[in-house]
Amino acid sequence: MHRETQCLHAGYTPKNGEPRVLPIVQSTTFTYESTDEVARLFNLETSGFFYTRLGNPTVDCVEKKIAALEGGVGAMCTSSGQAASTLACLTILKSGDHMVSASSIYGGTFNLFAVTFKRLGIDVTFVDQNATDEELSKAFRPNTKLVYGETLTNPSMDVLDIERIANLAHAHNVPLIVDNTFATPILCRPFDFGADIVVHSTTKYMDGHAVQMGGVICDSGNFDWKAAGHFPEFTEPDPSYHGLSYTGSFGKMAFIVKARAQLMRDIGACQTAQGAFYLNLGLETLPLRMERHAKNGMLVATFLASHPKVNAIQYPALPGSRDLPLVTKYLPKGICGVMSFELQGGREAGARFIDHLSLVSLEVHVADIRSCVLHPASSTHRQLTDEQLAACGISPGLIRLSVGLEHPDDIIQDISQALDA
Ligand SMILES: *Cc1c(COP(=O)(O)O)cnc(C)c1O
Repeated sequence: MHRETQCLHAGYTPKNGEPRVLPIVQSTTFTYESTDEVARLFNLETSGFFYTRLGNPTVDCVEKKIAALEGGVGAMCTSSGQAASTLACLTILKSGDHMVSASSIYGGTFNLFAVTFKRLGIDVTFVDQNATDEELSKAFRPNTKLVYGETLTNPSMDVLDIERIANLAHAHNVPLIVDNTFATPILCRPFDFGADIVVHSTTKYMDGHAVQMGGVICDSGNFDWKAAGHFPEFTEPDPSYHGLSYTGSFGKMAFIVKARAQLMRDIGACQTAQGAFYLNLGLETLPLRMERHAKNGMLVATFLASHPKVNAIQYPALPGSRDLPLVTKYLPKGICGVMSFELQGGREAGARFIDHLSLVSLEVHVADIRSCVLHPASSTHRQLTDEQLAACGISPGLIRLSVGLEHPDDIIQDISQALDA
């Protein structure tokens, strides 16, 4: 099936007389006829539902849809995007390990790595994702266990050279995790270019309507944990599962089974049936929406780029952009509706511009059907020092604009009058 068709039909195929629309299974628990069957479920010897923290029929269908869209072997929904990146990394990392991350990533993820992971004894080296292979190689250590980046960085809109970074990670026997939130599998499938694991904040374009928090982790099944030779938690017996080995018992599904059986079991940041139902509604129209976000985004970016009050704009699909060759390779259908720009007059002019917008609203949100705007330095990224801000590609006056699905003339008119003001 093509992705447009998968968005409507993958994951849930009703049988004779069953509901046409994915039903909400609003039950935390499931009943069985024998203790033996429940024991087999707990031993992971058979699949089935026994407690909604570990699996729910509604959530399961949405996970299968997303796995199909990304081209992976399995997926696990989480309560938020933050939970997805946390659980994805902690499925691999333990105290004493090290990871390499692009520095220009979402502020919440930066904080998670720089502060919370550090408190857990996990060391992170932040790198400029555009540095040469030789420079990037210097960040790797004997205890490095993964590499992390975003397809399109939030908010600086840099494009990750997924294939190059995946090759580099694999040369060091570690997987590449890519946050594909802004591109969605409609515009880019990181697995096609060698990424091993994908995470999303489904709160953004996948849900699209700003109604439900969520995240998802998707496993390509391609990383060979055994051959890499330094992932004993995947290849050796797990004492919390009666000596079961994830690679031994689950092969290509080792990562996503471990993520659920260990991390979701212990940390519990699960998606709800109701939440998954909303997410599924969003996914059904995702291809249409992404196409229009990309089209409207390009029109608004073109307007801003030629406006005399705009000093600089980051929308890598624009002609002449540094990352345009990467857009052509990884995002040939366009790059979504998010852009960032800097006005003449910096921070003060930016604040005045935002206060004069009327259709485009000021929100701590992005990647929504309604156009919205944000000043990262005073909101999402306000915990960061000026040096950390600079490393994330954010100047104090930077404005992040998320172009929605309104008529582009109305969006441009609102921006134009606010710039005049
Ligand atoms: C919003 C966002 C997150 C965090 O997701 P939540 O659902 O808000 O927890 C992670 N990565 C990116 C790229 C985001 O935009």
